[in-house]
Amino acid sequence: MMILMIEDEAALREVIGYNLMREGYQVTALDNANDALIAIEDCPPDLILLDLMLPGLQGIQFLDIFRQKNQTTPIIIISARNSEDDIIRALERGADDYLPKPFTIKLLETKIKVALRRSTDRIDSNLISGAGISIDLDAHRVLDGDREIQLTQKEFDLLALFVRKPGKVFTRNQLLNMVWGYENEYNSRTVDVHMAMLRKKLGDRGRHIRTLPKIGYLWEPKPVDPQ
Ligand code: CA
Repeated sequence: MMILMIEDEAALREVIGYNLMREGYQVTALDNANDALIAIEDCPPDLILLDLMLPGLQGIQFLDIFRQKNQTTPIIIISARNSEDDIIRALERGADDYLPKPFTIKLLETKIKVALRRSTDRIDSNLISGAGISIDLDAHRVLDGDREIQLTQKEFDLLALFVRKPGKVFTRNQLLNMVWGYENEYNSRTVDVHMAMLRKKLGDRGRHIRTLPKIGYLWEPKPVDPQ
């Protein structure tokens, strides 16, 4: 697996690069995003680690350019900018995850593993499963073991989205866009109401849904305690 790291801080590049290579990854480390745009043409990575504050092209600009041609390669932001606005902006513009600096190598490695795992999952399959739940997209059925769970169309769409991408943070606007097909801040409450219903219908499995206050939701591979 090839990881492209775009990080202008040399010490950080070295320590991350060293540890990832020790874990068996191939790593290309660059100190700016302009060179990265050229490098990805020659050698497309399996995952990108992206700093936001860079000399030249900024991380968020790189994200915009890259996502115009590639929607699938996972991108994890590593940044000292850690305000809620920064995090939401990066997620809405196509980052898969966001790791505020400083972070531990262990946490970074875990996030990389999770991101790579879900990107290699077959997303074109009509049967998806995770955390004990199976979803048949053709038959429109959801099974928790042998128990069938009855969901509305929107709840079904939300669940399918989450189970397909465990660990991925979805903002309320993204969910509105993907499930309801429009974007409107005013209606983000709609998402909360449907998520609450979905969580309730899933029973114990609802504990996989994690709420990130003011940001959105994600499906945890391991159940979380009720919030
Ligand atoms: Ca930087």
